[in-house]
Amino acid sequence: MRPAAPQRRCVGCRKVRPQWELLRLAAEGGKVAPGAGKPGRGCWLCRDEACARSALKTGQIPRALKGGGAAPELGRLLEWMGLRSLDGDGGSGLKS
Ligand SMILES: [Zn+2]
Repeated sequence: MRPAAPQRRCVGCRKVRPQWELLRLAAEGGKVAPGAGKPGRGCWLCRDEACARSALKTGQIPRALKGGGAAPELGRLLEWMGLRSLDGDGGSGLKS
């Protein structure tokens, strides 16, 4: 069976998943920003804190973007993933 959606590889865990399950990051003006429809080089990340941490730790984001932008902070990534609000600074008690 053909997959219904395009598949992309997460730069955190390296798993291939349907595109719609992943967050796209794109380099824009020297910064990395979320943008599913943005042109140019992008990379993909599961909406998962473990993947965000892993991608940041291994420097996969700037590498995947060919130096188009510096990696964002973890908190920002989590915001984009919808895992943490702007105020969520402590990082505890946010399980589901
Ligand atoms: Zn992942």
